[in-house]
Amino acid sequence: MTYDPNNVFARILRGEIPCKKVHENEHVLAFHDINPQAPVHVLVIPKGAYASMDDFTANAPPAEQAAVMKAMGDVARLTGVAATGYRVISNCGGDGHQDVPHLHFHVLGGRPLGRMLGKAG
Ligand code: AMP
Repeated sequence: MTYDPNNVFARILRGEIPCKKVHENEHVLAFHDINPQAPVHVLVIPKGAYASMDDFTANAPPAEQAAVMKAMGDVARLTGVAATGYRVISNCGGDGHQDVPHLHFHVLGGRPLGRMLGKAG
């Protein structure tokens, strides 16, 4: 998947459209998903322009990679789901059903989340 600099998350990072921020530092922004699938549904994104997990791990500096990993755990604590359980998902590419071509991690919780995968479709 190629990186489109006009994707919605790139526009959020540039301040062109708003978000409901949960957490931010030099490398990472975390904000509430606009269409939540669970009581807690936060998106964690690197500030760098990476389309997917494979792009990120091939091209992001180690400090940025570490910061994104740390932010997912920080968001779990900040939102309270660390206490009850949560799931982190990153959809990548076509079979992964990725809609926004800027790498992102869904942090979901606040209710029992069911089995890991639904049926294809
Ligand atoms: P994915 O299918 O993994 O690419 O997920 C993209 C996610 O981005 C979906 O859960 C959308 O609800 C979410 N989303 C799209 N636009 C926005 C926005 N402006 N602010 C917050 N979340 C958004």
